[in-house]
Amino acid sequence: MKVLVVGEKKKLTRRIENLLKRVVSPDGKMFHVSDTKEGLEVLKKERMDVVVVDYKLPDITGVEFIERIRREGFDIPAILVVGKGVKIKEETARQIGCDFVISEQEYRNALPFVIEAAYNRYLFDSERRSKGEILSVMSEEIIKSKEQWQATIDAVTDYIFVIDRDSKIRRTNVSFATRFKRHPRDMIGMKIDTLLGIDMSYGDSPFKEVFASNTPVSRELRIGDETFIVNIFPAMFDDDEVAVCIMKDVTETKRLREQLYHSDKLASIGLLVSGVAHEINNPLTGVLGYAEMLLSITKEDKTQKYLYKIYNAAERCKKFVETLLCFSRQQKSQHSLENINDIIDRTLEVRTYWFRSNNVEILKNYGNVPLVYIDAQQMQQVMLNILINAEQAIDSYNQCGRIVLSTAYDEKNKKIIIKVSDNGPGIPAKHLDMIFDPFFTTKPADKGTGLGLSIARGIVEEHGGSIRAESQEGQGATFIIELPVD
Ligand code: ADP
Repeated sequence: MKVLVVGEKKKLTRRIENLLKRVVSPDGKMFHVSDTKEGLEVLKKERMDVVVVDYKLPDITGVEFIERIRREGFDIPAILVVGKGVKIKEETARQIGCDFVISEQEYRNALPFVIEAAYNRYLFDSERRSKGEILSVMSEEIIKSKEQWQATIDAVTDYIFVIDRDSKIRRTNVSFATRFKRHPRDMIGMKIDTLLGIDMSYGDSPFKEVFASNTPVSRELRIGDETFIVNIFPAMFDDDEVAVCIMKDVTETKRLREQLYHSDKLASIGLLVSGVAHEINNPLTGVLGYAEMLLSITKEDKTQKYLYKIYNAAERCKKFVETLLCFSRQQKSQHSLENINDIIDRTLEVRTYWFRSNNVEILKNYGNVPLVYIDAQQMQQVMLNILINAEQAIDSYNQCGRIVLSTAYDEKNKKIIIKVSDNGPGIPAKHLDMIFDPFFTTKPADKGTGLGLSIARGIVEEHGGSIRAESQEGQGATFIIELPVD
């Protein structure tokens, strides 16, 4: 904010400037000239935001100077400083479009606020700037109180701002202005819908609603990926209706609540699944046993063929039930000190035949990793589930399949990092969040159950680790497991 002071003592102007910087705007600047000719020259050379004019000037009166700058076409807020004895008619001030302050004892302390008020009013309401109001002298106490209020709202990290009926900002706290990398003063006059990138045309904007209902409004507001709770209260600034808005960022709270709900849901699925699996297991053992017995006593080809069908179908069910039980993890885990590179090698051995016959190249990039205290069987299951997925992905996509397995030790964080990458079709971004959910599958019913990664995650997390996937569609997928080393 640039303020031209005409006539005031230069030394006092510096004092007022310091106060202006402190209470109104840190980039506030005051330019001082002692006579009117100089004043006009400065105005012509540089754009000023406010002009403060002493009534007593060396050649003409302050009123005449303001009349002159109006004649020359300078449409900026003007403040006339008049001595106690000088009688100035409000009518005159209104005609020339200025406010005035009476130079009583403490008027210099009040001047920055008068400047701010005149400037803000000028920004909002060009008609009101020529009202010729007497802006009263403020005492040191009022200044202190204003500063304390400002410090109070600036200490709040929630966004606080005041808007008028046209949705234009009247004032904001530092937190809100910082969101837009601006100083609060530079936010004045900006439209809230433009700033927040929201559409007010639907008529259900909470910012509009508060003026229509004249009662407080509370709403959840989504802006891009962020969620806010906005509370808006009707208020009055002089005769103007305004709305005081407080916006709280609840993005993280909402995410945590959803995560909690999700893990609650998973826990109940686990419970349900283990109950069902146990119930099915017993009759299934019966079906398998009797099918086997009948197979051994029947000689008739057709009957044998049908019995094999029953046996194979029951066997498939049994395998699925085992997977379900593994998912709900009813078995006890047995931990021992293991080398993760050996565990990967043992898992690879199980699939060697498949890799060879399907022309899949296996690349190993093992680091020197410390022993970890883990359940080897379970960790093999994790690796197997990831490898089977990689195989299936490659099988459906790439003639020259390649799987890269790497291990490394992050000494700083005391973690072993295992990476499994394939050159299959990759995972679409919209699926990345869901692939670890139980029963999420993109495969046909005879190929996928949607439990492999969910089991893997359960096991890794039980070991205090984490698992995640990274993928660019069309460029393969990488699974990253981090295991803590105690
Ligand atoms: P399933 O393999 O039975 O479908 P998973 O839980 O193991 O169940 O995997 C869930 C889904 O994740 C798969 O259906 C597939 O869409 C995706 N997926 C897993 N691994 C890969 C991979 N390496 N490449 C592409 N997609 C994958």
